[in-house]
This record gives sequence, C-alpha cells and structure tokens, in this order.
Amino acid sequence: MLDKNVVVITTGGTIAMRYDDATKGLVPAVNGRELMDAVHGLKDICTVEVIEFSNIPSPHMTPKVMKALGDKVDEIAKDENVAGIVITHGTDTVEESSYFLDLYIKTEKPVVFTAAMRGASDLGSDGAKNILSAVKVASSELAISKGVMVVLNESIHSAEDVTKTHTANTDTFQSPYWGAIGYVDFDRVIFKRNIINRLKIDTDKIEENIYLIKCFTGMNSDIFDFLIDKKVAGVVIEGFGRGNLPPLIVDGIKRMIDANIIVVLVSRVIEGRVLDVYSYFGAVKPMKEIGVILGGELTSQKARLKLMLLMGRYRTKNEIEKYFD
Ligand code: ASP
Repeated sequence: MLDKNVVVITTGGTIAMRYDDATKGLVPAVNGRELMDAVHGLKDICTVEVIEFSNIPSPHMTPKVMKALGDKVDEIAKDENVAGIVITHGTDTVEESSYFLDLYIKTEKPVVFTAAMRGASDLGSDGAKNILSAVKVASSELAISKGVMVVLNESIHSAEDVTKTHTANTDTFQSPYWGAIGYVDFDRVIFKRNIINRLKIDTDKIEENIYLIKCFTGMNSDIFDFLIDKKVAGVVIEGFGRGNLPPLIVDGIKRMIDANIIVVLVSRVIEGRVLDVYSYFGAVKPMKEIGVILGGELTSQKARLKLMLLMGRYRTKNEIEKYFD
C-alpha cells in the first residue's frame, strides 16, 4: 500500500478551526500540514501530499469555487502517481460541493470528501479520525468508479444521496432511504453497493442566476414577480409531499414559464420522488402540463446545482428535462 500517493486538498471548515478567545467561538486556524500531522497512523497507509486550496467556512462556498475545485481535482488526477484524492471541507455544505463534483469531474479515481463536527481544539474532535478514514477509502482500489463519496464517522456515503441530518451530532451524515454504500473498518474498507446510472454533465460553464424557493402554507406569488423582474434563468421550487403547491403561487409559476424561466420542482419530504399523481389545482399534473420539470428525488439544494450545470450547456426545457428524474 505504501507506494500509493493520495493528495489531500484542504478547503476549510470546522475540521480546520480552533477556539478563539477574542471572538469566543471557532475560527479558521489550522493549515493543511498541521491537519495531516494530527492524524496518527496516516504514514502507515500511503504517501500523502497536501494542497491548500482555501481555508473558508463552508457557508462561504460558491458554485464558482466548486467548479474551480473540480477543475483542480481533474488536473491532479491526471498524474499517474496519484491513486486518489481527499478533500477536507466544512460539514454545512459538503453535500453540495461533493454532489457538484460528482456531476462535473471527469476522473474515475476515488474522490472522497471529509469534514468534522468538532473543531481541532474541541474535546473529542473527530477531524483526524475522519481524515484517516477518507485516506483509507481514497487509496483503495475498491473505491475506483464509485462516484464522489463523503466519509465521516467511518461511513461511506455517495455524494448523490448524502445529507446533513443533525446540527451537532458526529453521526450527522445519512443517505435517507438508500443508506451508506460502505464503511471503514480498522483493517480495511468495505463496500456493500454501487450507485447505478451515475450522471455526468459535460460542460465548461455554469449558469449562476438560479434561485431556490421553499413553499409554505398560505404562500402567494410575490416572490416570483420579483424573480421575473430580476430576469433569473431558472428556479427550483421545493413543494409539499409528491410536489404539490399552494394555490396562490400557480399564477406566478405560469408567469415565470411564459418569461422563459426554467422551473424545476422537488419536494420538502426527505425520501421519494415528485410525481403527477394528483390533478387538483396546484398539484403536480397541471404544473407539469404548463412546463414545470419534475426533479425526481433530489433535495432542492442538489437540484439547484444540477440545474446550474445543465444550464451551462443547454437552454431549452426539453433538453434539460431529459437529465432530471
Ligand atoms: N460551519 C462549519 C462549516 O461548514 C461547520 C463544519 O464544518 O462542521 O464550515
């Protein structure tokens, strides 16, 4: 195993934060080398090279930066001495950056995001252990062509399914309905399933002018008039249940479609697809008939990233719709 080389790209997050007496909270403080030095046993797994990409809290991450990160990963992966890549990241948006890269990057080498729920100075900090687990996965031949993965708390999740489910617990990352694809044990990495029908979006541009709107009971169309005025390119709407919507927004959605804005519908329910099984006013069937795209079982934050990538390449509803659900 020791002849393998894993590159660790650091981007920031709690994993690289320490308590600051002046501001009385966690702040970015740990550089890439210090992060690696804290990982007991790393040297026994493989050779590790560290590249500092950024040191930001992950709410500061943007799709443009995700794209630059993806380009960097593909560039590093071209080196035949590199077996796999680990990316350290904040937990708040790791499900977004990892999913963006899953759709965007070209390499089939293992790409593994990891993070921590406790700062480097916190009691019971989980960063070092998570890095060790991520490096084990990234250096494993079993992890080739598995798509981008997120590894925390010894569980291996697919970027497509994973989401943060608890604001504080170290066991926060789950893949609702589908479950983890594997786990990291003391002596080896164990995979139990593969993701089928993995999607790649071949584009060198992204459309950034895309909004995400969450529905609420009693909602009206005011926000959509604002978005039409702003000339947005696309909107992801997070509806209820099977994708059904409050009646007062139906008119606003029609006006957006008339203004050539691409509208993608997903659900606020954490498991299952949106589908046109209801035909009452505001339900999915009439919305689909006027041109709303059904977003399958994606969360709204992932549907937005997918639409950004798709609209970097395609502009019409018919072209874009083929890639959803
Ligand atoms: N706010 C932090 C971040 O996402 C949380 C974390 O890393 O756990 O950067």
